[in-house]
Amino acid sequence: MAEKSFKYVIVGGGVSAGYAAREFSKQGVKPGELAIISKEAVAPYERPALSKAYLFPQGTARLPGFHVCVGSGGERLLPEWYTEKGIELILSTEIVKADLASKTLVSAAGEVFKYQVLVIATGSTVIKLSDFGVQGADAKNILYLREIDDADKLVEVIKAKKSGKAVIVGGGYIGLELSAALRMNDIDVSMVYPEPWCMPRLFTAGIAAFYEGYYANKGVTIIKGTVAVGFTADANGEVKEVKLKDGRVLEADIVVVGVGGRPLTSLFKGQVEEEKGGIKTDAFFKTSVPDVYAVGDVATFPMKLYNEIRRVEHVDHARKSAEQAVKAIKASEEGKTIDEYDYLPFFYSRSFDLSWQFYGDNVGDAVLFGDSDAASPTHKFGSYWIKDGKVVGAFLEGGTPEENKAIAKVARVQPPVDNLDLLTKEGIGFASKI
Ligand code: FAD
Repeated sequence: MAEKSFKYVIVGGGVSAGYAAREFSKQGVKPGELAIISKEAVAPYERPALSKAYLFPQGTARLPGFHVCVGSGGERLLPEWYTEKGIELILSTEIVKADLASKTLVSAAGEVFKYQVLVIATGSTVIKLSDFGVQGADAKNILYLREIDDADKLVEVIKAKKSGKAVIVGGGYIGLELSAALRMNDIDVSMVYPEPWCMPRLFTAGIAAFYEGYYANKGVTIIKGTVAVGFTADANGEVKEVKLKDGRVLEADIVVVGVGGRPLTSLFKGQVEEEKGGIKTDAFFKTSVPDVYAVGDVATFPMKLYNEIRRVEHVDHARKSAEQAVKAIKASEEGKTIDEYDYLPFFYSRSFDLSWQFYGDNVGDAVLFGDSDAASPTHKFGSYWIKDGKVVGAFLEGGTPEENKAIAKVARVQPPVDNLDLLTKEGIGFASKI
């Protein structure tokens, strides 16, 4: 089979790939120099839309509406954009072998791709219940959500099971967003998770109490402190029941599982240094192998602000790490240097008519401020995290753009604070003064 050769290859066609392509174009990449090889059949898009507007009964988002880079307020990169720039989009092509020593990639169909510089942007894959051998987990209509094909399957099942029952397994942001989207489609929703409250990796008990109350008011049943241990199916092989560890059995026409992801690094195992489950990079997203960069979900990089090596699975970092890597690639060709990556963690989620943002680090003591009564029509609240006498993280539900900017600044500046009661009393006013 013919061999194709490019100066730059990005493997993976998700968020990072799209933002990297835009940066390559800004930096003057020449036609024919860059290729994106993606398992997906469509040009890079803003993945977060899949668990939000893609599933809404009204105002539904569909491609080409959410191709990158609209998510950060930029120009939408339609497939034609890549053609105009001479960037080759090699879609529906899964790379199954990578040999970093000979700078060669091989696809499932046996095509061979050569590169001079490789950007690894393979993102994450979902953890499946069948990975743990959960009984009956391969029944029909037990679904996961990572790529647009998964979202299409979900849309189809939502239509087929009108006014049916859904069980959402997992209490992270995917579980929360999917529960809301299904409820908005008039489906009877139960959420099941083992932890004492939802989003435990970020939310405090106080923050979670608001969302759990709000969801309950919207008709979502929340079942905590237990897990799904098995499923039964009907004669068509479609899921019918979810068996819980505590002995309860829930009826279900649809099950959606959101129990976490795993970075897709297996292609490069043993060829590149890894750390904390990801591919280890420097502050320019350069890996241990010359001419190989890793960005987005797969990269474990130095987080300058906290003087720590971390991996981040958020869209904002996917965008920014991709831009940083491309700038570094171009600078090194010209014998120049650029500033080190100095990332402020930013994560957000939206569901129903709620919207929150979080910046910084959720470590130390947390204080809750504002009106966090789920039944209050004027609810608006937030949290600060305080460590070593400094505010290091901030969360805000329902903030205005200015207020969100203010909490971002607080997390970056880390102002000292000695009176936590005062901080609670001042609330968002504290951030707005910084
Ligand atoms: P991805 O965007 O996942 O792209 C990876 C690409 O690589 C995919 O196209 C994949 O098919 C391709 N690929 C993988 N292996 C191969 C291979 N061997 N050969 C060819 N192609 C391959 N983050 C937030 O901050 N806020 C949110 O609200 C939010 N919502 C989300 C909702 C959903 C449903 C999901 C799944 C994620 C969400 N995220 C959110 C996380 C965010 O989308 C990711 O952090 C981001 O997409 C990571 O970008 P990436 O480029 O590293 O990986």
